[in-house]
Amino acid sequence: MTDVRELPARLNQQTVRMDTGRGGIPELTNQDIAAALAFVPAGLGREVFIACHWPDGAALSRRRLDALFNHLAVTEWRKRINRAIDAKVTYGLAVALRQWQRAETAEQRAEVYRAQAALDKAKEEQWPESLPEMLPGLLRVIVEEIACPRNCGACQGRGTVLAGELVKACTGCDGTGHTKNSDGWRAKKLGKDPSNFRRDWKACYQWLFERVRDAEAEAAHQMADAVKREAA
Ligand SMILES: [Zn+2]
Repeated sequence: MTDVRELPARLNQQTVRMDTGRGGIPELTNQDIAAALAFVPAGLGREVFIACHWPDGAALSRRRLDALFNHLAVTEWRKRINRAIDAKVTYGLAVALRQWQRAETAEQRAEVYRAQAALDKAKEEQWPESLPEMLPGLLRVIVEEIACPRNCGACQGRGTVLAGELVKACTGCDGTGHTKNSDGWRAKKLGKDPSNFRRDWKACYQWLFERVRDAEAEAAHQMADAVKREAA
């Protein structure tokens, strides 16, 4: 099976030649590909797949992609803010509880300590306040990184390595064959200086990148299944 990610690009061409089978791979018409795309369930993965591999289609579905990505990011952003608020309230209560009674117990002290640690963690995990204004930039860079992946150096992009006579999934890239782009690349593309990126954006970017990448991979998988069914 050809890499299904190459198929939608053919939809961009004016004409598709039917006689150019490659190595026994059934040639598909634009209609076949469009039909196969219709089998990929609606959602973030489908929109990302189109954005990465089918520029003409992406122009049409750009708003859907923006809306789905913004929803994903803002929902998580809000969750993290709420976690920090909850942790702050819990900490305040633990401190007050310790003060209400004259004799402080070891349990109360431990509770304050636990609440403090949870508050620190929640604050640390909060995403930057300026997230909403960064959403278009984040999506653009993430889509670019997924559309043009860099090959993993450990397996040369194969996703597998030889261990003796065994073929094993590459541990360097979790079998994806791709390596993530450097912090420097990501920072530059987002218009951030590298130290600012590492401090404020690195974790947020990575979290969003992984969700978008996995959604795209899932859509590619469903697309491949649909193409196989049609070719059969
Ligand atoms: Zn690898």
